[in-house]
Amino acid sequence: MSDLDKPTKPRKAVGIDLGTTFCAIAHIDAYGKPQIIPNTESERITPSVILFDGTNAIVGTMAKQNAVAEPEKIVDFVKREMGKSKSQFHREFNGKIYSAEELSAIIIRKLKADAEKYLGEPVTDAVITVPAYFNDAERTATLHSGQLAGLNVLQVINEPTAAALAYGLDKLEQEQTVFVFDLGGGTFDVTIMRIESNHIRMLASNGDHRLGGKDWDDIIVNWVAEEFDQLHNDNPLLDLQSYQDLYNRALTAKIQLSSRSRTTIVHSFNGKSVKLDITREDFENRARHLIEKCKTTCEIVMQEAKLDWTKIDRILLTGGMTRMPSVREMIKGMSSVPIADDVSPDEAVAIGAAMQGVLSMLGEEDVLGERILPQEVRDRFSGEDGSLIKVTNITTHTLGVVLWDDTRVEEYVFPMIRKMAPVPVETKNSFGTAKANMKNAIVRVVEGESTVPAECTPLGICDIELPPFLPKGSPVELTYTYNENQVLEVIVDAYGRQNRVQIARNTGLSDSEIESATADLLQITVL
Ligand code: AMP
Repeated sequence: MSDLDKPTKPRKAVGIDLGTTFCAIAHIDAYGKPQIIPNTESERITPSVILFDGTNAIVGTMAKQNAVAEPEKIVDFVKREMGKSKSQFHREFNGKIYSAEELSAIIIRKLKADAEKYLGEPVTDAVITVPAYFNDAERTATLHSGQLAGLNVLQVINEPTAAALAYGLDKLEQEQTVFVFDLGGGTFDVTIMRIESNHIRMLASNGDHRLGGKDWDDIIVNWVAEEFDQLHNDNPLLDLQSYQDLYNRALTAKIQLSSRSRTTIVHSFNGKSVKLDITREDFENRARHLIEKCKTTCEIVMQEAKLDWTKIDRILLTGGMTRMPSVREMIKGMSSVPIADDVSPDEAVAIGAAMQGVLSMLGEEDVLGERILPQEVRDRFSGEDGSLIKVTNITTHTLGVVLWDDTRVEEYVFPMIRKMAPVPVETKNSFGTAKANMKNAIVRVVEGESTVPAECTPLGICDIELPPFLPKGSPVELTYTYNENQVLEVIVDAYGRQNRVQIARNTGLSDSEIESATADLLQITVL
């Protein structure tokens, strides 16, 4: 029996928004309609919090609620650590050390298991989203997390791209430029997308890795702590349990202030307590610098895209923090561009990811000649002429090579692929050897916006042996290719010799480690 004759296993794809504070998972139903999949607690979003309890890992609201009682058993905000090696970040529970991607895999396992229960079928494939400014190590770590959770990861895509897809499959034939403002629990991301004739193109993107709802929460936490200290000369933040308790109260207060003009927080610690009345106005005054930061990022992105507000047709809001009135006011103050209200800010990204899952599978159908998806789904996701919807992303970091500057007598970074280049992209350049009689041409690949090598992130090396007795300045050809899956390949050519290196990312796990880590993770029961 040839491979083509084998009965194909049923496949089911989902879209996963792996958020800093909350996750969401969605699928496309048999009629081609995107739907959020609720978890076993009947919630449409799941807190990205893990509670380790022996060999059990409890994920979601239960874990979050227990955070106060058992803070030492809790892991949260793991998205901020993605892409770090185990030596840079790890957490230890029950004698086992977990990397960021393993912890994220535990969260994904919960989402997958709950989805399977709800749908009544195995979930095999997924598209997972990341902030547009995530670098390659962070993306690869995200891909590994999905694999560790037992999923075939079809693609890792940018959150704003997913949001733009969710914004309107029906509107993709209208020409428009959308501004996606995504302020979540821990990250901030602004992206400008162009939609025309079934093609979504990213024009510019920028963001702040460390700006999100948590910063607003911290303002309230520190405010209450200051009042407590003034009253009782004691710091309620030094005790982990008291901190968690206050943190939860601050979070609730912040959300209340989105719909009310005032609220009250009472916090007790060491037998003493403080009561603080907070008005929305006072809170907004204390958080003004955060709003200003958001505004500056928006302005930078507009400059990078070389656009003014008259060229923007619609603003899309994603991330729970965009429910906050001061955020909306700031956005309205910048321009008179209408804000799209037909997508829920918490769900848009997962829904867009599920849509991308179908688009990826349709692409596979074309290649394999086999039908994976129901006809109704296929029809809904193809253009009127039967063509597929196309998504073009851009690079969000410059990929360069370290060269020698003879006049300045120092090394510098030459940009091979500049930030914001549409992907896939290939660039070629010819360089001269720095000295006579060089035995090897060593290409040092870096990522970053600076021309100073020390200020960029080293990604890898590609070298070739050179023939003997070459004069200084002998030509070496260098090619960088960057594909849709954000994999960089570097090719060095000189004198009939060639070396081709796929730049492996510095994440915690190698391919063989993924296999053993997957088996290891199965020892834990995820609830
Ligand atoms: P996300 O990571 O996109 O789910 O965003 C979650 C963040 O949004 C958290 O910091 C939440 O506290 C915050 N958030 C959710 N709803 C509201 C609301 N109504 N008002 C203010 N912040 C909110």
